Amino acid sequence: MISVSEAQQLIIKHSSASKPTTIALKDALNYVLAEDITAPIPIPPFNQSAVDGYAFCFNTNNNSYTIVDEIPAGDTRKIDINANEAARIFTGSKVPKNCDTVIMQEFTKVENNQLFVDDNNLKTGGNIRTKGYQIKQGDTALSKGTVLNPAAIGFLATLGITEVSVFTLPKVSILITGNELVAPGEKLDEGQIYESNSLMLKAAFEKMNISPTISYLKDNQEATTNAITNALNNADMVILSGGISVGDYDFVQQGILENGVSQLFYKVAQKPGKPLFFGKKENKAVFGLPGNPAAALTCFYEYIYPYINLSFGLKQAFLNQLQLPLSKDIKQKPGRATFLKATTDFKTVTPLEGQNSDALQSFAYANALLLTPADATIIKKGELVNVHLLP
Ligand code: AMP
Ligand code: MG
Repeated sequence: MISVSEAQQLIIKHSSASKPTTIALKDALNYVLAEDITAPIPIPPFNQSAVDGYAFCFNTNNNSYTIVDEIPAGDTRKIDINANEAARIFTGSKVPKNCDTVIMQEFTKVENNQLFVDDNNLKTGGNIRTKGYQIKQGDTALSKGTVLNPAAIGFLATLGITEVSVFTLPKVSILITGNELVAPGEKLDEGQIYESNSLMLKAAFEKMNISPTISYLKDNQEATTNAITNALNNADMVILSGGISVGDYDFVQQGILENGVSQLFYKVAQKPGKPLFFGKKENKAVFGLPGNPAAALTCFYEYIYPYINLSFGLKQAFLNQLQLPLSKDIKQKPGRATFLKATTDFKTVTPLEGQNSDALQSFAYANALLLTPADATIIKKGELVNVHLLP
């Protein structure tokens, strides 16, 4: 059985780059830029007043200027102001060409159209956002690999950009196995449980902007193999839930292999999620997740999440990691690294109650996974442990 870090190395080694595509900026939230964006205009595009006040050409020997014009924001006239003249101006207004300074109205007095300057701190250039001070035309506005968060979308809009080249999102097909499973909303008979992995995994993918398709399979070899064939024909990633262990009703591994997928790893020395499968057929990835819900979600965050981020070329493909002191002792059987559902305030980390591989309540409260070393038997309060922050 391979270790967590060996398995994660195989994820890195077998990641494949996503192709770029052009989409509208308005639809680009959370996509990753596939190329550098060059500023088509300087920002700001003209010398802009930062305050409400008066613009003039500052003469330190003169504290009085004649007000000759008023320039509201959006005024596109070309205005000339002579020495000893001033223009009433507002936040965002264009500063006239031969004005070098704006004074805040709070530091002025006006009598009969005559402006009196009363600001000992005023300097030439004061209160003007000069053309291109944020970014010059032709400079790199945002670089390839940037995740388009709300600020990035806003920044590109200030540049007048309407389309962006981003990495294509993978088409994901989720196949749910398990004869015991019943859809929420249906009647539950004794011996059946509600099916939760499809909604949970769909939600996890949707946080990455990806809308998977979902199919439900009966536990038999033919149905499983055929569903995998179909999914491989229609998707870039095939995610199976359940049926990957060694029980008599586990048909997933054989179904994957019968489809010509090469196995890259099966079984990882970890808890939960030991029977995790990862394979590829050309550039299509296949993950066989254990059916236990908390195990499936742990495997999603530790292996599928980085696999997708690597395809976008993200430097931080895996969950963000920190080393933090443990707030209480942990005991474990040595042999497998354990991912514990945990909370952290970024000063210490606390494992939660309810660490079984089927327990989702603790996961719902967790903001981190705490990874214990495989060989440890006891980890003492205060010792530093690896903490993986959940997105
Ligand atoms: P399996 O990996 O198929 O052996 O399933 C392991 C455990 O997870 C069993 O108790 C299953 O009933 C449960 N399980 C499997 N798939 C799901 C699912 N989609 N939703 C909820 N529980 C599941
Ligand atoms: Mg099953």
